[in-house]
Amino acid sequence: MSPKSRAEVSELFPSVQQEVAQLCAMPEMRSAFSWLRAHEPQFAEWQLELARIAAPPFGESARGEWLAGKFRELGLDAVHSDDVGNVFGTHAGHGLGYVSLSAHLDTVFPAGTPLNVRQQGSRLYGPGVSDNGAGVTAMLAIAAVLQALSIRHALPFVFIGNVGEEGEGDLRGMRHIFANQPWKDSIHYSLVLDGAGSDTIVAEALGSRRFEVIVRGPGGHSWSDFGAPNPIVVLGRAIQAFAQTPVPALPKTTFNVGVIRGGTSVNSIPESASMRVDIRSTSMAEMERLERALRQALDAAVEEESRATEARASSQRRPFGLSCEVVVIGNRPAGELYSNARILQVVRAVDSQLGNAAQVQRASTDANIPLSLGREAISIGGGGTGGGAHTLQEWFDCSGRDLGLKRILLILLGLAGVAP
Ligand SMILES: [Zn+2]
Repeated sequence: MSPKSRAEVSELFPSVQQEVAQLCAMPEMRSAFSWLRAHEPQFAEWQLELARIAAPPFGESARGEWLAGKFRELGLDAVHSDDVGNVFGTHAGHGLGYVSLSAHLDTVFPAGTPLNVRQQGSRLYGPGVSDNGAGVTAMLAIAAVLQALSIRHALPFVFIGNVGEEGEGDLRGMRHIFANQPWKDSIHYSLVLDGAGSDTIVAEALGSRRFEVIVRGPGGHSWSDFGAPNPIVVLGRAIQAFAQTPVPALPKTTFNVGVIRGGTSVNSIPESASMRVDIRSTSMAEMERLERALRQALDAAVEEESRATEARASSQRRPFGLSCEVVVIGNRPAGELYSNARILQVVRAVDSQLGNAAQVQRASTDANIPLSLGREAISIGGGGTGGGAHTLQEWFDCSGRDLGLKRILLILLGLAGVAP
């Protein structure tokens, strides 16, 4: 963001900018900032500790127990976990409606991945150390500073270590929180911490739908059963038609056929063939349109192959029994913040106050769920810098983490209001 656009933002929302400036000028805030800077070694230690506890998709419980212990040590109230393994702790306020601060616990690494977690100077290395070691650590740092300095705020906070953000988890942790009481209706603002950094604001939820398509037929010998329907040919016909579906540049919409499988040998007509298709957009309507195009392409391909089979086959080889199954293997809803959302005003005012240049981006994060429900939600980084996410070479650099932590603290207090 250029200095010019920061000025524009303050002009647009002078009252929010003023509130944030007043908040920043409070003596408690100055103590909080220096406390956060001074405790960096503690934060790095927590981050290493948590990264050493494996948290594969659907296997986050050990890390969740560790987090619940930390929540208790840091004086959060009502620490508990729910049916799916999300861990909660609250920090009391005086108003109605919670501000949530959440970070996903899971990693993309399957159980058994060697976790060679280590520190060299200001750098931490290891799978998941940044995504989402940085987010979880920042959440703990905020809970710690609230406790250490007895910072009071109007709306109460709920801290959440949630499960199931990555890949096959399909946002199941957040989905559960926003589908069930008590949190469904009581979280007014959601601040999601995902990965490292202080320079992004994810305010647009990139949606995705993923499908496994399985086509089945009778199979047979390539010579003696020639004429029987061929599932690989059906997929070929469907891909040819689907790939011609026009997509708009805005809202950006994409599709991909990422995996194709089928058949057993060169001289067998396959009994089945499958493919995996990924559709993404920030618009629900575009995703639905592309899904319809995929289903139509498949129906047409099955029909064409059946007709071709009839034309080829001798009269005694019927019925042909060609079938097509479409299984949804991923479904992340799209959504966008409305333009005058308070959470965006507060984040921008805080960035302007801190002289922090950050840009609004679209991505798929835990914030997709509240955003798709029309709630105020934003996803940002936990400070510091990181790289190699989703690889064994993942790293996190603690230098400058305090900027990210100050930013998170000010956003939370800006949203909650300072207690009388
Ligand atoms: Zn993440």
